[in-house]
Order: sequence, then structure tokens, then C-alpha cells
Amino acid sequence: MSGAKKRLLSGMQPSGNGRLHLGNYEGALKPWVQLQDQYEMYCFIADWHAFTTLAGTDVSIADQSRQVALDYLSAGLDPEKCAIFRQSDVPQHAELAILLGMLTPVSWLERVPTYKEKREHLENYEGGGEVGASYGLLGYPVLQAADILIYRAHAVPVGKDQAAHLELSRAIARRFNFLYNTEYFPEPDAVISEVTGVLPGLDADENGKLRKMSKSYHNAIYLSDTPDQVAERLKNAFTTPSKIRKTDAGIPEGCAVCLLRKLYDPAEYNVQWEECRNGTRGCVQSKRETTEVINTFLEPLRTKRAEYENDPAELDRILARAAEKARATAEETLRGVRQIMKIV
Ligand code: AMP
Repeated sequence: MSGAKKRLLSGMQPSGNGRLHLGNYEGALKPWVQLQDQYEMYCFIADWHAFTTLAGTDVSIADQSRQVALDYLSAGLDPEKCAIFRQSDVPQHAELAILLGMLTPVSWLERVPTYKEKREHLENYEGGGEVGASYGLLGYPVLQAADILIYRAHAVPVGKDQAAHLELSRAIARRFNFLYNTEYFPEPDAVISEVTGVLPGLDADENGKLRKMSKSYHNAIYLSDTPDQVAERLKNAFTTPSKIRKTDAGIPEGCAVCLLRKLYDPAEYNVQWEECRNGTRGCVQSKRETTEVINTFLEPLRTKRAEYENDPAELDRILARAAEKARATAEETLRGVRQIMKIV
């Protein structure tokens, strides 16, 4: 990791069942892997953030964080190039969040669209958590700003759904700099990767429209799925509702199985699409083939995952070494903050 490289910060929550899915891979992990040669990279596991939905449950965040670490590594993040660590191993994130919280107006936080959505979800739906919408949920973007600014990161890879959060981190950095008449925090830039867009999940809403792949919809294929689990999930996947017999015409553009086939078999999907459309290929065959294609894609990830699963001490070492590096960088930033704020 060269000192001349710009710093990039990214992370994901070990929420839900702690497993990352193909949507997370396409939208986040894959672009991160592509960025790791270019930047000094910090990829953290946002275990504190996961408590916005898991507080009061008996879920083991520690176990789930290990699963996320395995997902990161199996997807190709290289611990030699990129620091992979848990947020809770770097308490400096929390100290900075407290300080930044003092200068963040509540109105900024209430305006964040994901706050409104999540609040409604937590208050109205089963599985929303034991606590409902907490102070921590409202303050989530402050902790997120701290996660980024504690490394004085120049760049953050973002999906479209996170643009508002990054905007807020930038605003908080600007506010700190303005209030203390300093240029201490760089405003982190969004690195928008060339992502194909949102990956659809395996189900549809009440209008027959595909929903995004998401762990909260239980419509995902996980990177850690076995070949049989992939087959089982695809067996139950949404296809064209009016295609009951093989000879009925399908609509591949609106079918989860066909869209996944296209993504993971770009060279040959068109024959399947054509035959689905003209009623010469049935959904059972299409599902079987898409299962094969996805399992082929996941095979190298499974091999890599198994390496680390079989050597838990090595995983511990990777996380500990990265946390140590992160703490050193973070503490350096905090020393400056404490001086600027005249705490010391
Ligand atoms: P989440 O756990 O939903 O906050 O997602 C973590 C990361 O994965 C974010 O960068 C999202 O943009 C990305 N992501 C999640 N679901 C999908 C999806 N279905 N398609 C593409 N990217 C996704």
C-alpha cells in the first residue's frame, strides 16, 4: 500500500443473516475488487450499524461479521492490498461520531430518504427489530460520516441508493471545516462504478414487477449458498406468470431466471431467451440451466471461502492486522480533531 495513493473507504453491514448476496456482489464487492489496486483501501464490516435493526435480538454480530469477512475475501478482496476490519475494533469511529453529532443539525438527518423509509419499515413490519426506529437509526449518517472522515478518505464507492448519505458526509465535513476555519477534512468524492444497475431478486411484488435482490425480501442468492441451495432457490423463482406450459410464450425481460441467465451467461443467453419467448423452452429447463450458470460463477468464490473457513486463525490474523492499521490512521486523525476543537 503506497502512501501516494488516495484513500478509499467502503463497508457493509452484517445485518439480516449476515450473508452477502449476488446483488451486494454486483453493486458493491465487484467494483471494490476493481478499485483495490488504485487506492489505499479500507473495507470495514459495519457491525455497530447493524444494531439499527438487530438491537435486542440474540443474533451474534460477531459470527455474522466473520461471515461478511469471508464474503469479502471470497469475492476477491486481497488482504495484502486492502484493510479488512470490523468497525467495533476501531473505537475511534465512535469518538468522532459523538463530536460530529454535536455539529450536525437534526433537520439534516430527518430529511435523509432512507431514514424515512427505514423508520416506516421498522415501525410497521414484522422482522423490523425489537426496538423500532431508534436514536441510532436517526444518527446513522453521522456515524457513517465518522466512518469515512476518520480516515480522511478521499473517495467512497457508492451505489445510487447511498448518494444521499454521502452527500451528508460531505456536508458534515464542510460544516466542521467552516465552523473551525480549517481544511482538515477532505470532502470525500463518490466513486460511481460502472454497475449495470440494480440486480433483481427471485420474486415479484403484487403487481408482478420484479423487486431488487435484498436480504430483507428473502429473494436472494447468497455468495455462501451451496449448489443445492442455489438450485432450490431458483426452483421457486418468479418467471412469466402466464407461461404455465412449455409452449406458452414467456417474457424474458420480466423474468428473474432469464435476467440472471443474461447477466451470468452473456455469450449464450440469447438462445434461451428466444426459445422462452417462442414457447420451445420451458421454465423448468431454464431454471436448471441458470442454476448451472450461477453455480459455475460461484465455484471459485466457494473455493476461496473454504480456504479461510479451514483456517480460522488466519482470518483472525487478517482482521487483527487490518484493525491495527486502521486504529493507527484513525487515532492520528482524532489527535488533530481534538486539537482543532480545543479538547486538548
Ligand atoms: P444493503 O445491505 O442493501 O445496504 O446493500 C449493501 C450494498 O450492496 C450497497 O452498496 C448496495 O448498493 C448494494 N446492493 C444491495 N442490493 C443490491 C442489488 N439488488 N443490486 C445491486 N446492488 C445492490
